[in-house]
Amino acid sequence: MTLAPQPTDASPYQSYVYAYPHKTAYGPLPDRPALTALWAGEPKDALSLYLHVPFCEVRCGFCNLFTRIGAPDGLTTAYLDALERQATTVRAALGDSAGVRFATAAFGGGTPTFLTAAELTRLCDIAEHRMGADLRAVPLSVEASPATATADRLAVLADRGATRLSLGVQSFVDTEARAAVRPQRRADVEAALARIRDAAIPVLNIDLIYGIDGQTDTTWLHSLDAALAWHPEELYLYPLYVRPLTGLDRRRPGPDPAWDQQRLRLYRLGRDHLLAHGYVQHSMRMFRRADAPPQGPDDYACQTDGMIGLGCGARSYTAGLHYSFDYAVGMHEIRAIIDDYVARPAAGFAHAEYGRRMTPDEARRRHLLQSLLQAEGLAVADYRARFGTDPAEDFGAELHRFADRGWLEPDGTRRLRLTAEGLAHSDAIGPQLFSPAVRAAMAAYESK
Ligand code: SF4
Repeated sequence: MTLAPQPTDASPYQSYVYAYPHKTAYGPLPDRPALTALWAGEPKDALSLYLHVPFCEVRCGFCNLFTRIGAPDGLTTAYLDALERQATTVRAALGDSAGVRFATAAFGGGTPTFLTAAELTRLCDIAEHRMGADLRAVPLSVEASPATATADRLAVLADRGATRLSLGVQSFVDTEARAAVRPQRRADVEAALARIRDAAIPVLNIDLIYGIDGQTDTTWLHSLDAALAWHPEELYLYPLYVRPLTGLDRRRPGPDPAWDQQRLRLYRLGRDHLLAHGYVQHSMRMFRRADAPPQGPDDYACQTDGMIGLGCGARSYTAGLHYSFDYAVGMHEIRAIIDDYVARPAAGFAHAEYGRRMTPDEARRRHLLQSLLQAEGLAVADYRARFGTDPAEDFGAELHRFADRGWLEPDGTRRLRLTAEGLAHSDAIGPQLFSPAVRAAMAAYESK
């Protein structure tokens, strides 16, 4: 087994822990468990449904998501055909329809709006007719890019029940967008935002990035104000990361304390600006307008057990197993995985082939991680009710370390909650809660 170093809190920017364990800790499942067996004993009355569309118009320089640029003729149709076959197989594996209900749905990517309006209609049909999700009755979140957020696509999504449209803007300054290898013009972004507001989808989320080359306090505030002019119900502020095999990979080798300081300063500036404009902080990245309509699960809650992911980059979660297809960041490997996916017959989707078993220890870590990294923190009574122990018994050393750094609020007997500085260091805290086995698996993962 490869021994991975215990992460330290030397840099505030170690990794974004939006799901635990990370996909790079997954591995081949030699027993290829049948989905019927995996789902037989699971509660299925409040499942989450996630449909993954692995196509984008351009590859942003910071992106390590599972997506390919463009699609040769016929590939999106072939992909939707495969998605339909997978949906049919998975739905059959869930069993008796009476007890199966989806409580949330999301289309992610990639860029789901890379699909045409007609293809989006088909995507919704797959979710509704094949999976049995009632899209108009549950929160439905969709990701989009400015160029693909066209009126006809938005009309389909609004009509089918989309409640949240998330637009990846990253920066309203054209030179910064270019520096992040996401070339787009401010005028096009503004036009897309106008179309989204015209479509009257209840929640608009805007993603912005800080830490871009050349970005200053002034330009960052300029982007924030440009976003605020649209009164978005949600804003996500992401620190820029440079990850292996992405377009920015070659630009910043090794640790960069000055860049860390720039990101921390811009984070605090952005946080304070949004708080002063009536937003509430829900996590290091997520801010919601205080008067926005409630939106069901947010970024951590959608990672709870009972997730059905369809598409070749999607994960699925049962209580005992997290699984997906193979994962890659490099374009050549991604194409091969998509080609394999679209070539599969319906029976090719009946087993889990790649994933990670969840032990009781990993379930505790996951619960702690995904609660502690939220502003509201972890309710100790909930943890005790679920696991029969207190977090202080299970993770005493880690919690002491965080408290010593001033990252934990002092009285944690009822609720463990990060301080403002703790939230700012979420990306250093998360990796310190990974198990040795998960760290070792991630270290052994070969980037491809
Ligand atoms: S950041 Fe979004 S739009 Fe850009 S390449 Fe990644 S998935 Fe596509």
